[in-house]
Amino acid sequence: MLEYHAAPQLLAGKVILVTGAGDGIGREAALTYAAHGATLILLGRSVAKLEATFDAIEAAGGPLPAIVPLDLMHAKAADYRGLADTFERQFGRLDGVLFNAGQLGTLCPFEQIKEHEWDEVMQVNVKSEFLMTQALLPLLRRTAKAQGEAVLLYTSSSVGRKGRAYWGSYAVSKFAVEGMMEVLADELEHTGVRVNTINPGGTRTKMRASAFPAENPMSLKTPADLMPLYLYLMGKDSRGQSGKTFVAQPK
Ligand code: NDP
Repeated sequence: MLEYHAAPQLLAGKVILVTGAGDGIGREAALTYAAHGATLILLGRSVAKLEATFDAIEAAGGPLPAIVPLDLMHAKAADYRGLADTFERQFGRLDGVLFNAGQLGTLCPFEQIKEHEWDEVMQVNVKSEFLMTQALLPLLRRTAKAQGEAVLLYTSSSVGRKGRAYWGSYAVSKFAVEGMMEVLADELEHTGVRVNTINPGGTRTKMRASAFPAENPMSLKTPADLMPLYLYLMGKDSRGQSGKTFVAQPK
């Protein structure tokens, strides 16, 4: 676990988009970024959960966030272009994106993966990130030019670097996320847009509980435990870091 103490106003003045901001790691990251001064754009599929994150940020005295209800399973390229236009009009900048929303699909032998489940996992974990990245890059590039940098942070997994039996479409989707990060980091090398992935490691959330129903959740790190790394990678102290996978819980 990274020993890092972020300055209290590390992210002051920045505008940061978090996907899957209504639950689990994404909710904690949104609260943490807001507590360090950022204005959050909270994207997710359940409005009630996004509102709960909004309320928690407001109650803690953070900058008032924006809410973007969007189901990544069904959103199209035009929806993402619309979002980019809205962010440009409303904020005029976008300093960082945490791509965190993800789906596990069904863990099963490879031969039994259903075609529609494969498509759904790829849609949410990979294609939506491809389309959103494409739409947001012009604004991110302009922000990097004006502010010195912008950050793209994708969420990977241990099975995104080393495949594991029965993790089928989820593992393959996370390998794709790692590949996307490396391609983008190389392409954007001289633009000021930094691109990395985080592998959170086993963390106490609904997704982890559905993958390991017999596990004692109290034996796991919480999303809050991971936040030093999430802060480090979103802020200026990681300047110069790009094209890398960061493991929140090294063995
Ligand atoms: P959770 O299931 O707790 O939260 C996932 C979030 O993604 C939820 O807010 C969910 O929204 C959102 N989401 C899922 N599908 C969609 C969709 N179609 N459209 C919009 N939003 C959607 O997961 P975690 O917090 O555990 O996981 C966060 C990330 O970390 C994921 O990318 C996961 O793969 C990765 N990860 C997690 C590990 C762990 O042990 N927890 C380990 C390794 C990687 P809603 O609440 O509405 O369902």
